Amino acid sequence: MNHSLSEKLFAEAKTLMPGGVNSPVRAFSNVGATPPFIKRAKGSHIYDVDGNDYIDYVGSWGPMLLGHAHDAVIKAVADTAQNGLSFGAPCGLESELAKFVMSLVPSVEMIRMVNSGTEATMSAIRAARGFTGRDKIVKFEGCYHGHSDSLLIKAGSGMLTTGKPSSKGVPADLAKYTLTLQYNDVAGVKELFDKIGDEIACVIVEPVAGNMGVVPAKPEFLQTLSEETKKHGALLIVDEVMTGFRVGIHCAQGLYAIKPDLTTFGKIIGGGMPVGAYGGRLDVMQQIAPLGGIYQAGTLSGNPVAMAAGLATMRELSTHPEHYVHAEAMTKRLIAGLKSAATEAGIPLATNQVGSMGCIFFTEGPVTCFADVQKSDLELFRKYFLGMLDEGFYFAPSQFEAIFVSAAHTEDEIDRTIEAAKRVFKKL
Ligand code: PMP
Repeated sequence: MNHSLSEKLFAEAKTLMPGGVNSPVRAFSNVGATPPFIKRAKGSHIYDVDGNDYIDYVGSWGPMLLGHAHDAVIKAVADTAQNGLSFGAPCGLESELAKFVMSLVPSVEMIRMVNSGTEATMSAIRAARGFTGRDKIVKFEGCYHGHSDSLLIKAGSGMLTTGKPSSKGVPADLAKYTLTLQYNDVAGVKELFDKIGDEIACVIVEPVAGNMGVVPAKPEFLQTLSEETKKHGALLIVDEVMTGFRVGIHCAQGLYAIKPDLTTFGKIIGGGMPVGAYGGRLDVMQQIAPLGGIYQAGTLSGNPVAMAAGLATMRELSTHPEHYVHAEAMTKRLIAGLKSAATEAGIPLATNQVGSMGCIFFTEGPVTCFADVQKSDLELFRKYFLGMLDEGFYFAPSQFEAIFVSAAHTEDEIDRTIEAAKRVFKKL
């Protein structure tokens, strides 16, 4: 594959932006390759500036459940843009999207739109602290909730990929309020709450962890979080930035039958535009400015074009449940195919899958928490990733990220991916 133009653009970008990128994992530094510069995307395909065509399993890191440049979404964006890009004043589209989310996720009684997942989780943490009058928060090792100071402790995603799970620049005085436990560790949660439950403002959790590869929560784990927070007057924040409207139209909380106090959204609710949201219990959300004393704001929050992209996406998903059925079936087919291809080649591989999120780990497994994820052979992953990229299959360049399948992926594309993996596994 020729990458000469990408290489030229990357060389220039590196003189302009840290690592040549605006988000670390995109730099491909951990796999030692030049990232293809993307020119265009449609359906399950992305095309780079050198004319290479890839089947895409990143989907812009989650938003593109309908596939890239879905006709209805592009039309909604183009039509809305005709009337102006931003008003900084209320517009009806904000309520339309709010109603849509609230009708599908009953725990959300009031919602606030923001511009990213990071803003959503940061604001939800502030809301929990403001509402409870407590400072301590609990998160789980390997979960990523965006890059706000309180949440960059033992985090997942790019932080794992770069090998530095806690960021510099977070004051120790603040970091001491973030307590971390092992994912799926029911006993650990109970023990902590027994000791200091009435000092804890909230627990924040990915209901399916998708930033250390994919690690599903055990139902009793989420149940325990629900019970312990309730018992001790803390709030449960379920971070559905990745899982929201991906693992099902009622999100992960619908799938696991839990009712969080607050939920955070991102990715799919913006249909590829910069949108996040947080919402939940009315008594908590009524404490947000201008109703209450917990401040949070945004120049571009509720942006009409972004709302239109989210609405068009949500309309398509809610009126066509077959998108979920298809994307999940394709994910199962892919993960099962990769597993048997690896077995044939004598490579131990653990797999996890929920809805259209999947992951293969280069370890025996099972993988149920971060300690298990850490047993993965990163050098094998690296070779596998580069081999697949060269075959024209674009996966996330890290063992610690999910595979995202869209409603636009076809059975033939999945089978071609598996055939390519067979060739790549044989060479590992
Ligand atoms: N929470 C979760 C669960 C995420 O997966 C992400 C991003 N991958 C975030 C929060 C942060 O979202 P953003 O990158 O939009 O700030």
